[in-house]
Formats: sequence, structure tokens, C-alpha cells
Amino acid sequence: MIDPFGRHITYLRLSVTDRCDFRCVYCMSEHMSFLPKAELLTLEELERLSMAFVDKGVERLRITGGEPLVRRNVISLFDRLGAQIGKSNLKEVTLTTNGSQLARFARELVSAGVKRINISLDTRDAAKFRDITRWGDLPKVLDGIDAADAAGLKIKINTVALKGVNEDEIADLMLWAHGRGFDFTLIETMPLGEIDGDRVEQYLPLSLVRARLARDYTLEDSDYRTGGPARYVRVAETGGRLGFITPLTHNFCESCNRVRLTCTGTLYMCLGQSDAADLRTPLRAASDDAVLAQAIDAAIARKPKGHDFIIDRRHNAPALERHMSLTGG
Ligand code: SAM
Ligand code: SF4
Repeated sequence: MIDPFGRHITYLRLSVTDRCDFRCVYCMSEHMSFLPKAELLTLEELERLSMAFVDKGVERLRITGGEPLVRRNVISLFDRLGAQIGKSNLKEVTLTTNGSQLARFARELVSAGVKRINISLDTRDAAKFRDITRWGDLPKVLDGIDAADAAGLKIKINTVALKGVNEDEIADLMLWAHGRGFDFTLIETMPLGEIDGDRVEQYLPLSLVRARLARDYTLEDSDYRTGGPARYVRVAETGGRLGFITPLTHNFCESCNRVRLTCTGTLYMCLGQSDAADLRTPLRAASDDAVLAQAIDAAIARKPKGHDFIIDRRHNAPALERHMSLTGG
């Protein structure tokens, strides 16, 4: 699949649920209304849709949400997709999780063929963790991280940089992650969906964070890439990798290789635009994939050049109404 700007689409992010056991302040409002369960695709339908993308050239699948591990029986989806690795275009199935259910599922993920996962963690201070996630329990997440590590999963910690909340802890988080052999990536807040707080208050440009880290650590340029939008440096003092995802301070759209599918079968061709394609109707229209394949081609032909997120006082309304939890970031 090649889009109108010559970008090869080889990466699908699949959000298997919009629900979550946390209510992170930058992601959701406290009282969210979720999609009615009747609108969700079944796990079998999600598998068929994913494989239609794999047949068209998708090599990497990331399962996300909401919190993917709260969807009932989700491990069976990992099992079935994992079985396709190496037997189709599919090379890798990965996961982004808040870690709350990992103690239970880490080994089953490994058995399904998952090798690396991203775990979101914005602080290691239990009280702050509760403030950020509203409902989360830090010890449970740390147990989950230990279980994933013990099961042999390669771990990347993702941290959203939040002004006045975790900005004084970022170096400590990096040292902790690198000390445990994990990659560590920082993310800027993106203006998606109504939240109860003020995004201008939360927004911390990573250019500033990087400059501060560079005062105490030697950040060596690195061309390491995982196929995602992060740009990495190697931290000489720790030997670890530090990534930056900077949708606001640096536009990464020119190398975008991905599309995003929601749990109702809606395909978003760009995280930062509202145009979407309904794939549920063509999926259900026939038992073979011909109509579906055409609908996918038509959607890829509409993939936009990029997004134009802005966060400042004049643009404090969300750029898009939908929450990150619908598309999974
Ligand atoms: N629940 C899982 C988790 O938290 O890892 C997967 C879904 S979550 C939407 C995926 C990632 O998006 C998390 O790392 C989260 O911190 C990040 N995220 C959520 N809302 C965001 C926002 N408005 N701006 C930037 N990152 C956001
Ligand atoms: Fe849930 Fe992840 Fe959003 Fe936090 S960032 S509310 S864990 S979906």
C-alpha cells in the first residue's frame, strides 16, 4: 500500500476497546461515555480485518486501546494473530498497555508470540500516579512491569511529559528505566478530545526537556528506529536509549507509515485529522475480502499529508473531538 505522498503503509495500530481501567488526566475526562458494546466488532472480525491489511502489505501490528488487556478474551486475538507471524507478511505483533493487567497476562502474551511491548508510566510516585491516572494503582503496575520483564518481554517505557507534574522526575524515570534495561521514550501531550483539565497547563515541550537533560547527560545522536515516530539518542552515562515523540515541536508526518483502526472498524488515516473510512460495512457485506480490499485501497488513497496540532492560549479547544483512547495513540 502506497499513499498519495509515496509513503509505504506497513504498520497498523488496532484499538481493540475504547474502555479503560484508568482515567488519565491528559487522555480522558473522569466521566466518559464509551461506545455501546453492541457496536464493537467481535475478536474474529478484528482478526479478519487485521489480516486483510496484512495481505495488503502490513508487516507490523500494534494492539492498543483504551486498555487492550481489559477486553475479554483478548489473548485469543493475540494467539491467532501471533500464529500468522512468518506465515504471511506479518513480522511482529506488539502491545501498548498501562500495565495494570500485565501480572496476569505477560506469560500468555509471550506464548502468543509477542516479543516487545510499550508500557505507559508517567511517574513512580504512588500519590502522583493516582493524581495522573485518577483510578490507577502504582504497585499493581510495577508488579506488571516485573512480570513482563521476568517473562522475557522487551520493554519500552512511554512517559507523557507534563508541566509541573512529572517534569522534575523525568531524569529519575530515565535512570530507573535504563537501569532495568528498558528503552525510555517521552511523549508530548496532543490536543485530542475533551478532558476536564487545561491542556496549555499540561503541555511541556520536549525541546525544553531535552535541553535540560543535555545539561547533565551526554545525549549522542543515534539512527536507531523502531518504525515509529520516536527519534532516539543514546545516553552515554547509562548506555540506554532515550526517545522523543514530538508531534508539536517537530512534525514527523513525512515518514508516517501507519493507519489506525478502531474497535468498531473505523479506519483513521491520520491521528491528527478527522477523516475516516468505515470498514465494518464492507467487512460484513461478504464473506470474502474483495469489497473490503477495495475499501481499504480507497481509504489509503485519502491519507492526508499530515496534521496541524497547535497548543497555545488561542487554541485551547481540542484539535479533534475524539479521544486518544479511541485510536490508541
Ligand atoms: N491504555 C494504554 C496505555 O496507556 O498505554 C494504551 C492506549 S493509550 C491511549 C496509548 C498512549 O497514548 C499512552 O502512552 C498514553 O500516555 C498516550 N496518550 C493518551 N492521551 C494522550 C494525549 N492527549 N497526548 C499524548 N499522549 C497521549
Ligand atoms: Fe487509559 Fe491509556 Fe488513556 Fe490512560 S492513556 S486513560 S491508561 S487509554
